[in-house]
Amino acid sequence: MRTVLAVLLMTLSSVSLADVQGVRLWHAPDSSRLVFDLNREAEHKIFPLSSPNRLVIDIENSKMLDSLKDLDVSVGPIKKVRWGMRDKKDLRIVLDLREAIDAKSFPLPPNNQYSHRLVVDLLPRTQNTRPLTLSKPVLDVKQTQATSRDIIVAIDAGHGGEDPGAIGHGGIYEKKVVLGIAKKLAALLEQERGFKPVLVRTGDYYIGLRERTRKARASNADLFISIHADAFSSHRASGSSVFALSQRGATSEAARWLADKENSSDLIGGVGGVSLDDKEDLLAGVLLDLSMTASLSVSLDLGQMVLNSMGGVSKLHKHKVEQAGFAVLKSPDIPSLLIETGFLSNPGEAKKLKTSSYQSRMASSIHQGIKRYFMQSPPPGTYLASIRDKSDRLKEYVIAPGDTLSVIAQRHATSMSTLKELNGLKTSIIRVGQVIKVPAT
Ligand SMILES: [Zn+2]
Repeated sequence: MRTVLAVLLMTLSSVSLADVQGVRLWHAPDSSRLVFDLNREAEHKIFPLSSPNRLVIDIENSKMLDSLKDLDVSVGPIKKVRWGMRDKKDLRIVLDLREAIDAKSFPLPPNNQYSHRLVVDLLPRTQNTRPLTLSKPVLDVKQTQATSRDIIVAIDAGHGGEDPGAIGHGGIYEKKVVLGIAKKLAALLEQERGFKPVLVRTGDYYIGLRERTRKARASNADLFISIHADAFSSHRASGSSVFALSQRGATSEAARWLADKENSSDLIGGVGGVSLDDKEDLLAGVLLDLSMTASLSVSLDLGQMVLNSMGGVSKLHKHKVEQAGFAVLKSPDIPSLLIETGFLSNPGEAKKLKTSSYQSRMASSIHQGIKRYFMQSPPPGTYLASIRDKSDRLKEYVIAPGDTLSVIAQRHATSMSTLKELNGLKTSIIRVGQVIKVPAT
């Protein structure tokens, strides 16, 4: 009888083991993230071992179904991953490490994309001191010395890593499309005198929504733009849209729907201890509201210029900047926009958004919109503000034989693009006898 019972218990316990069905590894510039897919909840613990450096991950009552051979350990702190069973019921995973690291772990509950997950973040040892250094504004030596600073544009490619964003026709991922557009936009701004782009996400990894705006603030951004290409419940929805924050309800049902979807990103992408009710908002008070109002009016004006410019490349979903409660736009003092470059749920748009050429045109139209706004309303102390001051004192110049726009620009201590902008020139072609405006300095 006893043996029967023992056999029965053993069978029961082996039947009741949770399965680790998949393991993914994501590399961010300063951290790595391991994610275990479990078919149900399991207790776990992690602890480090030294000489040699290792991290042990024990998952109780579980077994490994994945072969782990797709994990890319060529970069990052992990050298090798081993695993084995302990007492026939617990799974022990050992990470052989290249260096000592700090680690933290947390479970994530299921959502419509994933079952139970266990997240293990591997962070650099110096991590503890980082929040202090990062909360201080990062000042470029070049900038503190210059009399006119660059306008800093923080470009946030939505989603990433565990969070693919929308998945369009032909298995195209929003996180990939928007990173493509973000990088192209950054390259355009990099070439533009007076602008400095900062990419919030540079690869395929997830960043929490709060962390995205914190990065923008740490880089002293004048503008934060989050780039997306979402899916909608209807395949027919199409066109680009631009969103600004609303504290008081959405301007349309679609805007509310998209904001809800974007705000759940942290649950899919994986941020430990996320709560959807926002306690900080209660503390914010009137002051925050006031500075928010100021940056919101800039967001709306700027957003309209970007939207108009995008209208030259794609159909517009709405001709006005829409508003909804997007968490990623909640920086009180930085004008912030969320740009939907199209709908991946629309087969035609998905096909276009996949191509590098369309991504370039989209990036260029956003670039033009941003530039147009800041040419008109440059923040004080910026290079663009200094040109505008100069352009208040313009004189006329008659093109002589042998003149080129670049020579004229040099002679008047300005740039070709400024001359083009001042004179509404689309190309650098000028003709003898033509009268153009140049700085009077
Ligand atoms: Zn999105």
